[in-house]
Amino acid sequence: MSAAATVLSGLDDLRPAQEDLYKDLHAHPELSMQETRTRTLIADRLRALDYRVIEIGGGVVGILENGDGPVVLHRADFDALPVVEDTGLPYASTVTALDEASGETVGVMHACGHDFHVASLLGAAELIAAARDTWSGTFMALFQPGEETAAGAAAMVDAGLTGAIPRPDVALAQHVLNHDAGVVGVQPGPMLSAGDSIKITVFGKGSHGSMPHLSVDPVVLAATIVVRLQTIVAREIAPGDFGVVTVGALNAGAKSNVIPDHATMLLNLRTYDEDVRAAIIDGIERIVRAECDAARSPQPPTFEYYDRYPLTDNDADVTATVRRAFTAHFGADRVIDLGRVTASEDFSRVPDAFGTPYSMWGVGGFNPGEGVPNHNPRFAPLLQPTLDTSTEAVVVAAMAYLGHDRTDTSTP
Ligand code: ZN
Ligand code: ZN
Repeated sequence: MSAAATVLSGLDDLRPAQEDLYKDLHAHPELSMQETRTRTLIADRLRALDYRVIEIGGGVVGILENGDGPVVLHRADFDALPVVEDTGLPYASTVTALDEASGETVGVMHACGHDFHVASLLGAAELIAAARDTWSGTFMALFQPGEETAAGAAAMVDAGLTGAIPRPDVALAQHVLNHDAGVVGVQPGPMLSAGDSIKITVFGKGSHGSMPHLSVDPVVLAATIVVRLQTIVAREIAPGDFGVVTVGALNAGAKSNVIPDHATMLLNLRTYDEDVRAAIIDGIERIVRAECDAARSPQPPTFEYYDRYPLTDNDADVTATVRRAFTAHFGADRVIDLGRVTASEDFSRVPDAFGTPYSMWGVGGFNPGEGVPNHNPRFAPLLQPTLDTSTEAVVVAAMAYLGHDRTDTSTP
């Protein structure tokens, strides 16, 4: 029997408690960087499993050293979203919380499947700890806060993560997605886009609505900018390169007969390439400044960058190793090419801080034709086979590096 199969022979006994843990996590979601209960639950569980536990930057790392061999890190994120759950599940969330960003009380829901990521990694950590004879090396289960605001991985790195835990030879992660349940999807190279948000403020000169000649009208200025920004992707980026520039909010003025003195725009960008990303940002700033000049704007525009997500660029060798292991375990019909996804993640900040190659894969959670996108109030992946599949995926990928029959020999 393979090392992965030996480790997973404990799954039948684990399953009832793991499903209860999942339902408990789902019923108790917490907003980004406010995840006190979830963090405590994870740290307690890891200590009970005899992992060495490091709490850092709002996250938790469980470390299990088991002799010579590679160091493998698997990451799960544990925050939820300000979404009112509408799944009808018996364990649906009724939680509300104060959203610090908006100052409002909001419903809270695990609408992105991070509860699956936590339950599967804790389950895998238990199985891996119970089968130490079948593998050697170091297994690290890293749980991060605040993925949905791009704050959590950076908080752990900024708090000194690289000095607090061993350097991983390989880093792994998974995400539950809108694909068929029981399926895992792999993708070498860029898998998730880099994401940036920008708040732009442009300035005019206020006046009575009947006296436009005495104004510098920021409404007309902002409208011109929104139209002109469309030319960046259409005219400046090569047709084969991917880029998205969306103006998600445009706000100015409050009354028909008052010309306001400023306008704000909220932009969202997605790219798969750092050069394209830099070119788009350069184009935005250049167009906004030039339009402000053209309008006789009395004050330079301001640019505030926030919610910045790095590119998720899967290492080709790691992805090939993971794919081979998945195919051997799940069978070729359950392993698909994921393709590129335009969503974004901050997972790569952790391996990038160590200079470690990484791969993230997708796990499907829905009956064919019944898929619901992440962040939707009705996002309810099937408990099974999703929980089993995601738990198996953690074990199988880790054992490709750590198992005594390991297929990857490129790491120590
Ligand atoms: Zn999400
Ligand atoms: Zn997510």
